[in-house]
Amino acid sequence: MKIEKNSVVELDYKLMDLEGNVWESSKEGGPWLYLHGHGEVMPGLEAKLTGAAIGQKVKVELGPEEAYGPYEDDLKTEVPREAFADVENLNEGMRLAAESSDGVHAVMVREVRDDVVIIDANHPLAGKAVKVEVKVLSVRSATEEEVAHGHVHKDGACGH
Ligand SMILES: [Zn+2]
Repeated sequence: MKIEKNSVVELDYKLMDLEGNVWESSKEGGPWLYLHGHGEVMPGLEAKLTGAAIGQKVKVELGPEEAYGPYEDDLKTEVPREAFADVENLNEGMRLAAESSDGVHAVMVREVRDDVVIIDANHPLAGKAVKVEVKVLSVRSATEEEVAHGHVHKDGACGH
């Protein structure tokens, strides 16, 4: 069976930057299950998967606009040193969890200055092209209910 609109597809995947560093893969998070043709995966990848069969491998390179979006300068902010309990231990490139009014975000320390610390809330892959490598593990037709809902029902159950 080949992948077409309304196929339920299971993929092994690996997300890399162009230097080959792996950022995410099914080794950690398990296979990726999605409903084909409903915009659940990046468009460039979805287009290449159309017509693919079980066992087939697909590689795509995606520009920033198709992956994590452009780098936004607005997401870089200056925070007074006093805001950090352990400012002496901060290093450039260190990742921190920052709490704000709308939850906890992963941020990166860009620069530690005498008076302020520059914090960057952009996704580490923002503004970068990425490579995605996938292997098709299984393909089946979606049920009518899955098509109506626009997502996969894992083990027959609607998670929404
Ligand atoms: Zn559902």
